[in-house]
Amino acid sequence: MPKAILTLNAGSSSIKFALYELGGSTQRLLSRGAIEGIGETPRFTARAPDATVLESYAWQHQAARSHEELLQPLLVWITNHLGGEALAGVGHRVVHGGPLFHRPVRIDETVLTALERLVPLAPLHQPHNLAAVKAVARLRPGLPQVACFDTAFHHEMPAVARGLPLPRTYTAAGLRRYGFHGISYEYLAGRLRLLAPTLAKGRVIMAHLGNGASLCALRNGRSIDTTMSFTALDGLMMGTRCGSIDAGVVLYLQQTCGLDVAAVERTLYHDSGLLGVSGISNDMRALLQSQDPRAREAIDLFVYRIVKEIGALASALGGLDALVFSAGIGEHAASIRSEVCDALAWLGVECDGLANDRHEALISTSHSVVRVLVIGTDEEAMIAAHTAELLRKQSLPYPNHGFEERRAS
Ligand code: ADP
Repeated sequence: MPKAILTLNAGSSSIKFALYELGGSTQRLLSRGAIEGIGETPRFTARAPDATVLESYAWQHQAARSHEELLQPLLVWITNHLGGEALAGVGHRVVHGGPLFHRPVRIDETVLTALERLVPLAPLHQPHNLAAVKAVARLRPGLPQVACFDTAFHHEMPAVARGLPLPRTYTAAGLRRYGFHGISYEYLAGRLRLLAPTLAKGRVIMAHLGNGASLCALRNGRSIDTTMSFTALDGLMMGTRCGSIDAGVVLYLQQTCGLDVAAVERTLYHDSGLLGVSGISNDMRALLQSQDPRAREAIDLFVYRIVKEIGALASALGGLDALVFSAGIGEHAASIRSEVCDALAWLGVECDGLANDRHEALISTSHSVVRVLVIGTDEEAMIAAHTAELLRKQSLPYPNHGFEERRAS
């Protein structure tokens, strides 16, 4: 019977998963899917790699569901689909590893307690990530679980890039720049090493442009700076998050507009960005199709902020050899890539319009000083690879470690 790794990326409204067969040094994708509509009417869908639906299940009534209730059908389906003891482990995307966790780690009670202390640093993501860990521990008490951190890839950023110009009391308490989207950047850095090994050793800026958006500056494949920082709210303008703003705005919202802390959080995380500026949608597809001038205004600001931050990161790198676009907008929105590239002509960026429209892997002209690439990201594959590696290193062919059985009660 083949052994398999399950990856989970648990958020507030969905739990994305992928199932991989555990091979020698590689993992073969068996299925991808999601539990969507959490908090409304949840439904579970598992698809084959070719997108054929393998299983779907919709809960009957609208109700707030626990992660255990939501994950149960997935685990039952895996057991039925692969056979009895097929699952070798679960790898989780955990957004914040704080100052302690800078590589994937087996989750036990001590690790879980430490990760729960980081909830205030990522209030929108970390509680959901950890709820999935706890649910799996209760549903499958012996099953090894591994946490992969979005912050880990940036752990070795130079001290100057990690610093925040605040009084030492605060920085000593852990207020520093951490950076996020690290699982995606690690995957992309690996792909670039395969596609263009010499380029990968140079000065590279990667643009992960999805609902959440950030840039990462890499030298020799390592992160030397990134636009998200203490939280995933900093840096680029995003779907609903504002990105960098004058900290005085936060004070003004509270002192003059009368918003309490919860309302400020809602405004900055959920009501700003593309959605806030356009007043229409956080979905780039909808904005690109809209004739409303506010949609154009939102896109202009989105592009402007990317271009400006690329300028800043190019300075941090001392020049630029390659620019990589990735994630929903970076991989699919040719017009956004072309606007960014046009504005970076001064840096030696020259986009090949035809290659860009065809979404080819290399979209810069042969004269371009900076190579421009489009690379699809795959955070699940990265999590599966780390989980498999950790299980192998710890010689855990069978799910016989992890949480104590008593957690099942
Ligand atoms: P996340 O994983 O952060 O939720 P994604 O990486 O899936 O986000 O990216 C979502 C964004 O990508 C949305 O703004 C969506 O509109 C945009 N997107 C997806 N496909 C296209 C497309 N074909 N053209 C333009 N934008 C697209």
